[in-house]
Amino acid sequence: MPEILEVERYRQAAEVAVGRSIAEVSAPDAWFLKRGLGPDEVVAALTGRKVTAVRRHGKLLMLDTDGPVLGLRFGMTGRLVVDGGMPIVDLEYGPDRTDPAWRRFGLTFEGGGSLAMDDARRLGGIELWPDEAALGPDALSITRRQLASALSGLRAPIKATLLDQHRIAGLGNLLADEVLWRAGIDPARAGGTLADDEVSRLHRTIRRVLPQLMARGGSHTGDLQVARERGAVCPRDGTPLERRTIGGRTTYSCPAHQR
Ligand SMILES: [Zn+2]
Repeated sequence: MPEILEVERYRQAAEVAVGRSIAEVSAPDAWFLKRGLGPDEVVAALTGRKVTAVRRHGKLLMLDTDGPVLGLRFGMTGRLVVDGGMPIVDLEYGPDRTDPAWRRFGLTFEGGGSLAMDDARRLGGIELWPDEAALGPDALSITRRQLASALSGLRAPIKATLLDQHRIAGLGNLLADEVLWRAGIDPARAGGTLADDEVSRLHRTIRRVLPQLMARGGSHTGDLQVARERGAVCPRDGTPLERRTIGGRTTYSCPAHQR
């Protein structure tokens, strides 16, 4: 599924749209439009507008225009299509084929080119003026102080907090498990119980792992990834891994080195 690394790649690919003017807006799937937005409304709001910037905060991709801000959320299987090509063809949980019926939204630019979103499961969405302020600090640039503040006093499992986009924006299931496994922290521990040195270790791990996996090709390229199956052992110490549901998601962790 698209996590922060995949959406960052989408942002980079979408940069070509900066400076282009929107000639046509296609919104064939009204259900895909969120926060009360209607098809006629989105067409009227964006047609003729010029794209001035492409930004990302966590897993939210934003196109600034000389009118409204367009927000794109990719859910589990959303894919960005830029000028007819896909920046990422294979998504870990998505189907490995495409279907014209999955086209949920599209922009065509004056003088050629396009930007569209395909989504097989329709868990993503399009909105105008997305609520960026509701998102926590971006995981690619989070500071130690911001991380400490996001965890402070929390009784919820740390894994659930890392997935909570209001607390920290960008991490999904694979990255959260990878980060906690590398940092040696039990995903079920309450976030508020982390000692100062553990917060520091978790922070250093987040800041190191994300660029590393970005260079490798995405959130499915972590060192724990090969062990995300029943009966697998910890790639670090050979201990049989625990498989639990934490924060509503299937979670793999090592009972020996994650405390
Ligand atoms: Zn281990």
